Amino acid sequence: MDTSISPEEQAIAKRITELKKILGSELMVLGHHYQRDSIVMHADFIGDSFMLSQKAADSDAKYIVFCGVHFMAESADILTDDDQHVILPNLRAGCSMADMATLPDVESAWADILAETGLHDPVDKTAPGDIPTDGKSYLIPVTYMNSSADLKDFVGRHGGIVCTSSNATGILNWAFDRAGPEGAVLFFPDQHLGRNTGLSMGIDESKMPTWVPKIGSDKELTGARIILWHGFCSVHKRFTVEQVGDFRRKYPEGHVIVHPECPKETVEVSDANGSTQFIKNYVEALPSGSKIAIGTEINMVARLADSHPDKHIECLDDKICPCSTMYMIHPAYLMDVLEKIVEGEVPNQIVVSKDVQEGSLLALERMLSIKK
Ligand code: SF4
Repeated sequence: MDTSISPEEQAIAKRITELKKILGSELMVLGHHYQRDSIVMHADFIGDSFMLSQKAADSDAKYIVFCGVHFMAESADILTDDDQHVILPNLRAGCSMADMATLPDVESAWADILAETGLHDPVDKTAPGDIPTDGKSYLIPVTYMNSSADLKDFVGRHGGIVCTSSNATGILNWAFDRAGPEGAVLFFPDQHLGRNTGLSMGIDESKMPTWVPKIGSDKELTGARIILWHGFCSVHKRFTVEQVGDFRRKYPEGHVIVHPECPKETVEVSDANGSTQFIKNYVEALPSGSKIAIGTEINMVARLADSHPDKHIECLDDKICPCSTMYMIHPAYLMDVLEKIVEGEVPNQIVVSKDVQEGSLLALERMLSIKK
């Protein structure tokens, strides 16, 4: 066991290991890449939200303890059977980006955009695999996984789909196929992922207006291809062009890789951008001795540095703090929920109500059926 951690932390880790053993195959612990080491050491699977949602969907475990944030546990609940219980060790672990798009604001924007552009609402016309063939132009809603279940339900009911940072290009292609040549996508809540993906697909920025809730669009909506919701991740928006410049001055032969939730200016001066899984694979593929700066959450960067001692790996922002909500999953909370499960309770269960399950399941299943 790691002796750099306190005796109290060691005792918690030991107890979590014992509890996991008692629960055996009834339990599955999922850990997002942004969780601290003392959590991911207990995870049966470590991954990004796409990979973890697949693991939840494929699992038979009775208890799925999700070490991540609220929207991830909601998606796991939607994708699992009624007799499976999804548990979030700390119910306060939300996501500030997900909170930037609420259902009333999205419904209001939806009505305004349809009225202004004359585009059609696909409602539930778009069953999996169906492409409207009536020659009309549609507005297709696409929500990032980082959104609440009621928004995924809205999206599912309006012929739309969920995306993650690892499949956004494939998902946008799916949406454009259904929107028609004059149609558009309403993408929320992260403007940066939408903009960076659109630019990588050759869409001109003038065709990607930003929609500010309660205010409206910053550009002409007619002719738009992607209407971007004005949301952002408070962690990734901190990575800047200046930081890339500083790193390149130190290591002119170095590599800079960032997450697509970063601003487009930062992405443009980086060598590569992609999901947490993409970043992990990219770092692994670089030769020994490489100097690498990474623009994503610090726990993941520190873990990559530890697991690649033959490479110099640093965080692009030397003052960056961890995602404050991911950090709310402390090992003591994990131990506490496992103790309660062993005692026969189901603590901190995340239950998505039946009335929003149908549309959200449709939107998630559409995503899972599409290759990246
Ligand atoms: S890193 Fe950003 S997007 Fe991810 S959970 Fe934290 S606030 Fe949300």
